[in-house]
Order: sequence, then C-alpha cells, then structure tokens
Amino acid sequence: MDPYKQWRIENGQHLAGAPLRQQPWQTTQDSDHAHCSCCWAKFAEWDAPGIQHTGYVTTTRPYAWICEQCFKDLCEALAWTLPNHKPIHIHL
Ligand SMILES: [Zn+2]
Repeated sequence: MDPYKQWRIENGQHLAGAPLRQQPWQTTQDSDHAHCSCCWAKFAEWDAPGIQHTGYVTTTRPYAWICEQCFKDLCEALAWTLPNHKPIHIHL
C-alpha cells in the first residue's frame, strides 16, 4: 500500500461506502471553510495557494468534504459512490 495513501485512508475510514456528490464549496451560516476529511486540504471561497473550490461532499449530515485529489486516489479503497452520476428516472 502506498504510504501516502495509507494515512489518508485511515482519516477517511469512517466515510467508507458513503454516497458523495460533487459540489462547489459555499460559505454557510456555520462556517466559511471546511477541510478535506482525508488530507485536511482547505475548502473556501477565497483564492489562496492550496485552497480547494470544488470537492465531494457526503449527502447526509454531518457533511464531510473530500478534495478532488483524495477522491481520485481513494475512491476505490473507500468505495465511494456518486449516485447523482447515474441517470435519474422519475416515475410520476
Ligand atoms: Zn484530500
């Protein structure tokens, strides 16, 4: 196992199997920033080195954010899914 992945997998273990959706970070009433649950990268609306503007977030509370790099590297190991990427069939 790649040691650079191992510590991030341990950080994100509690999110294994979680459905995620891709979303731009938006400041909320509670917070003007968030951190990647795996590597602690920062999400915010302002521009600065290392600041993430878009990432992946859990679909249920408490919302946890995952940066694009961690999603790319760890989605297989942590079995994340993107339900929104499947076609949605609406039955009326
Ligand atoms: Zn990350």
